[in-house]
Amino acid sequence: ISVPLLQIPATVKSPWLSSAFSSAPTTKLFIDGKFIESKATEWIDIHNPATNEVVGRVPKTTSSEMEAAVNSCKKAFWNWSEMSVLSRQQVFLRYQQLIKDNLKEIAKLVTLEQGKTLADAEGDVFRGLQVVEHACSVTSLMLGETLPSVTKDMDTYTYRLPLGVCAGIAPFNFPAMIPLWMFPMAMVCGNTFLMKPSERVPGALMFLARLFQDAGAPDGTLNIIHGQHEAVDFICDHPDIKAISFVGSNQAGEYIYERGSRNGKRVQANMGAKNHGVVMPDANKENTLNQLVGAAFGAAGQRCMALSTAVLVGEAQKWLPELVERAKNLRVNSGDQPGADLGPLITPQAKERVCNLVEKGVKEGATLLLDGRNIRVKGFENGNFVGPTILGKVKPSMTCYKEEIFGPVLVVLEADTLEEAIEIVNRNPYGNGTAIFTANGATARKYSHLVDVGQVGVNVPIPVPLPMFSFTGSRGSFRGDTNFYGKQGVQFYTQIKTIISQWKEEDATVTKPAVVMPT
Ligand code: NAD
Repeated sequence: ISVPLLQIPATVKSPWLSSAFSSAPTTKLFIDGKFIESKATEWIDIHNPATNEVVGRVPKTTSSEMEAAVNSCKKAFWNWSEMSVLSRQQVFLRYQQLIKDNLKEIAKLVTLEQGKTLADAEGDVFRGLQVVEHACSVTSLMLGETLPSVTKDMDTYTYRLPLGVCAGIAPFNFPAMIPLWMFPMAMVCGNTFLMKPSERVPGALMFLARLFQDAGAPDGTLNIIHGQHEAVDFICDHPDIKAISFVGSNQAGEYIYERGSRNGKRVQANMGAKNHGVVMPDANKENTLNQLVGAAFGAAGQRCMALSTAVLVGEAQKWLPELVERAKNLRVNSGDQPGADLGPLITPQAKERVCNLVEKGVKEGATLLLDGRNIRVKGFENGNFVGPTILGKVKPSMTCYKEEIFGPVLVVLEADTLEEAIEIVNRNPYGNGTAIFTANGATARKYSHLVDVGQVGVNVPIPVPLPMFSFTGSRGSFRGDTNFYGKQGVQFYTQIKTIISQWKEEDATVTKPAVVMPT
């Protein structure tokens, strides 16, 4: 089997990936418009999850380099924020075209470092691209409000203004989409931005940064640092950073939310999930089973909106054997291989964790209906593969239900009625997404109204809103007040200034001091 993506594809021109003192290419920093080699003494290996070969290294950025990155953002802020909104819009109009032109090349880097299939990686870039396209409507999004004649000769109007330097901390599972949720929305509003990608998958963002520069983004408006906890703490503590966008696990998200907020910053944190698909017996069986299988196992379950939990209501419980059959037919392979439906997990540790959670489920009384733990993928024996796995007879008290598994594992619960299903979903602490499958509008309406989850699909398995809306995960899946992208994204990255102005006719001069509160 040929493995074309074991090396960086020759077609990808990678100014940020150059050999330094090891054969593995190093990931550059992007500071003040230059891709520079870090002077870090500690480096983190990037692995191809399908083979576990080292395909690159990221530096643990030094303090002085991180400081230089923030200074660069700060220095660039004045010109960028004072530039006409139409000029900023032009940068993003050029940027969206460049992303379209290079979509397949970016996707190859996603597959190389993250493991998802090429088709899915293209979807990853595409969903980010849509946010960039949306950012191009900044001229409407940033409009303020006006009210003339609030009193005699007095008008009131508001401006939406950028905050200053903002920062983003991204997870490994959407190397292109999630950074693109962050810096384009912030920057089109006039902020400058410091990005820290996941140390496991920096390649796509570095490519996107080069394209952004090619689109005409001035030096210093976007800076990129790498690393883990030290870089995160630096962002949370730096007085010049005004807002932090975080996407990732609850463990990191809660920490960043608290530390950043304590330091007076705005923080929005999208976190983990346990998304339930409620299947009613009147649903279209063919559609429902296919959608459930696709949404549970696609991307090897490493999506925050994966439908990782099925709740089969009443007679729908009889569909379980067919669900298992369909899951068995999915093809597990390296993401760059033709026909692959799902690729590997991100690390051997992630695989071990997923396998242990399955084992624990069995020990706690669940039925193992499909076991993908011992899968062998020909030609990729060292990859972190787990095949589709299904646990039946799962109860809310079991560990495999309580924890986010983040792997190709579907846990199946049973309920007698819609009300019982709603109760199960609402008792779960997460509130990212959910779906109901039914042919009955009243059932769908009742579910949508009573379920306490931020994003609801009606016969739609992964209800991720397009960017003219916002990503509205709730409860345990979100900390903050304003969500990512859409109107809420603009609100997060801007502050309002209200101007009250009075222009009197010359003969209406104020003749004595007004010492009482104006009414
Ligand atoms: P992660 O929390 O391990 O890492 C995210 C970022 O935080 C990385 O940049 C990492 O360097 C940093 N980080 C990790 N641990 C840290 C710590 N203890 N202190 C400070 N910083 C830390 O998340 P991940 O494994 O990369 O991503 C998977 C998680 O992200 C899942 O829980 C998934 O549900 C969640 N996710 C949520 C959404 C959403 O929109 N709700 C979207 C994608 C992923």
